[in-house]
Amino acid sequence: MTSRPSPLPRVVVLGGGLAGTLAAAALAPHVGEILILERDSALPQTPAPRARLPQAAHAHTLWAGGADAMEELLPGITADWLAAGAHRIPIPNGMVSFSPAGWYRRSWDPTHYLIGAGRDLIDWAVRRRVLGMPNVELRTRTKITGLAGDGARVRGVYAEQAGQDGRQAAQDGQQAGQDAYGSPGLIEADLVVDATGRNSKSTRWLLDIGGPEVRETVVDAGVRYASRRYRAPEGTETDWPVVHVPADPREARPGLFATIIPIEDGQWHVSLSGTRGGEPSSGEELFEEFARGVRHPLVADLLARAEPVSGVSTYARTANRRRHFERAGLPKGFVVVGDAATSLNPVYGHGMSVAARGALALRGQAARRPFASAGFTSRAQRAMTRPAAAAWLLAVGQDRFYPGAIGRRPNLADRLSARYVHRLAHTATGNAMIVERITDVVTLRKPAGILAGPAVLLAAALGPRKPLLDGPELTAREQEVLARPPLRSPHTASATDTDTDTDTDTDTP
Ligand SMILES: Cc1cc2nc3c(=O)[nH]c(=O)nc-3n(C[C@H](O)[C@H](O)[C@H](O)COP(=O)(O)OP(=O)(O)OC[C@H]3O[C@@H](n4cnc5c(N)ncnc54)[C@H](O)[C@@H]3O)c2cc1C
Repeated sequence: MTSRPSPLPRVVVLGGGLAGTLAAAALAPHVGEILILERDSALPQTPAPRARLPQAAHAHTLWAGGADAMEELLPGITADWLAAGAHRIPIPNGMVSFSPAGWYRRSWDPTHYLIGAGRDLIDWAVRRRVLGMPNVELRTRTKITGLAGDGARVRGVYAEQAGQDGRQAAQDGQQAGQDAYGSPGLIEADLVVDATGRNSKSTRWLLDIGGPEVRETVVDAGVRYASRRYRAPEGTETDWPVVHVPADPREARPGLFATIIPIEDGQWHVSLSGTRGGEPSSGEELFEEFARGVRHPLVADLLARAEPVSGVSTYARTANRRRHFERAGLPKGFVVVGDAATSLNPVYGHGMSVAARGALALRGQAARRPFASAGFTSRAQRAMTRPAAAAWLLAVGQDRFYPGAIGRRPNLADRLSARYVHRLAHTATGNAMIVERITDVVTLRKPAGILAGPAVLLAAALGPRKPLLDGPELTAREQEVLARPPLRSPHTASATDTDTDTDTDTDTP
């Protein structure tokens, strides 16, 4: 792979997760070859779990803005998901959501959607299409240990098989970047894309080659997840809504969240989470009890009528962490995508959509100028930061307010902005136009700036046009399910699997 058969640029993507495969899809039309290097063992050929994607045990929301971007990068991907059993759930009709300002109405025309699917299914479909591209190659069980080059230009990476040091091997005279699996050494590239996720070492790797220091901002509400899959009650396997009861950051207590997402195989993926001081435990007997303690018991009432089909998995590495590569003056030939640049508290469901919108932005830059040109790295990094920054503001605008949150305390601007957001949410309980604008922003289809337009400001000043609902708007079928006798009394939930803790350190070799 180090011989240079093509005059077109070669790209090396570090990490074969969603951001890495989407970046490969974005760049494939503009390069000779793309090599994706992934430390995990062989990636599954089916929508099956893999070791280094522990978050797949937790419910994932793929919002319209992210799904649209993936469809643009990989035309037909939505049909692939749906053929594999995913659901395309309309918004607002397909969401029963108890916002801090009250229940949202479902009777308005659908304007947006989300994809309800297990994370393994989403990634598998993307991976299958990307690895089917003629100029994309995946090499698994390959761990990146550093960058090659200097502060002005990255020329490749060092890779190793477990236990071997790529730099040392290269110095020892091994043929640089031998092609055979497991040969450690230097792998040269015209562009290196870091997609190694939340635990990326790029900030250190850059310093190692004399590159810039990269500033980091952290806001950590201490969120812990507990998740479990249920068999959907009979008759609810299709056309079932997402049910979402989020926390209210204005309350002076830990935030508690509960969400049911209908996924493939007639299952519900259920995630519960709590901020610092309110974390859910991994105990199966406490799962539904936690769901009963959130702001409304609807999720618990539904779970009591469904059968668990998995144990409880937990996860707690959920801090919002933004590494400001776009301000660092990166060397040429190097960009950072996905969680490696901005990782977000997952309760807002934005990581995959940020990766997808970032990949679209990368494609736009790659179409405009060569990788080696002076402006490519800085422009591409800035363009990819825009969707990430939008999601960042949505997350930290709430997370700063939870008790014990780590990071800068909320200032006056944060408080005013939070009050305006609450006013919009209040207006949205009775104004379809405001629901649509908010959903544009939450699904990452449009930038948050649209919420400051004159029509929105006026609507917010006037407030909702309809009275507040005193309970969730439920269809006859949904009410019928709730009228069924519960399958369990509290504390007696059972599971077919044993309890699984997926809160592993993904950085372990
Ligand atoms: C509990 C939880 C729930 C979530 N829910 C949602 C949701 O509802 N909606 C949503 O959009 N997002 C959600 N997310 C976020 C989403 O999972 C991430 O944003 C997304 O996985 C980021 O993809 P990535 O490719 O950047 O990173 P990752 O998925 O972490 O992939 C990184 C890849 O790089 C590889 N790698 C790492 N280091 C090396 C190395 N040195 N050498 C070679 N390979 C390496 C890893 O093995 C891995 O395959 C959630 C996250 C969590 C934790």
